[in-house]
Amino acid sequence: MHIPPEATAPPPPLDCARHAVFLDFDGTLVEIAPRPDAIVIPLDLPAQLATLSDACNGALALVSGRSLPELAGYLPGYAGLMVGSHGAEARGMAPPLDQAPNGLARLQADLAAFAATKGLLYEEKTHGGALHYRQRPDAAAEVASFAAALAAQTPGFAVQPAKMAMELRPAGVSKDRALAALWALPVFSGRIPVFLGDDTTDEPALGWAAAQGGFGIKIGDGDSCAAYRLPDPAAVQDWLANARGAQWGV
Ligand SMILES: [Mg+2]
Repeated sequence: MHIPPEATAPPPPLDCARHAVFLDFDGTLVEIAPRPDAIVIPLDLPAQLATLSDACNGALALVSGRSLPELAGYLPGYAGLMVGSHGAEARGMAPPLDQAPNGLARLQADLAAFAATKGLLYEEKTHGGALHYRQRPDAAAEVASFAAALAAQTPGFAVQPAKMAMELRPAGVSKDRALAALWALPVFSGRIPVFLGDDTTDEPALGWAAAQGGFGIKIGDGDSCAAYRLPDPAAVQDWLANARGAQWGV
């Protein structure tokens, strides 16, 4: 079920005593940049996440499509739960995927070569790679068909569409599966799940939170199954800063 933007409401306040908080990264906590390596991390974001995680007794996790080491590198000072590569990598729990499927090096070489030929940005990931066409939007269809063909000839990998990008990632990993794995951790026991995400890749996770008796918050425009919506990462930071039960600046 999709709820149009005009029918969605601002979310209720975050309650550190009751909620479990699951956060996407790009487009949710930080503004999307022309290049994935050009994002600007709000200065107080790592400390804010660390404070919130403490206030929630550790019931907070980042769930991103980025590689885990890259994500961790952007957030020094936040040592809590983290899932990377759409669920293939994790910090603070057993990694959902021990190693990438066979054929990773060849797949990454094919992606890099295609990007070089077409003037696209190639982003290598731990378990796959992404083709970014934000600077060449005219190449969208060509990128999609190349990615589909590459997935078809590389068993164990699947296409992951994202905002102005096509990614090849291990088949069978997804953010909602990552959430289900996190949910088994004792730290989340008895809490109400809340997931925040901005992209089509986040829709199953937004739906998962609602199915578990919690709710999703869609960031930005576009169709979503989420009951609530915030306009941008700055609004997300404000919402987090107004959490009940967090002690700031002490
Ligand atoms: Mg995102």
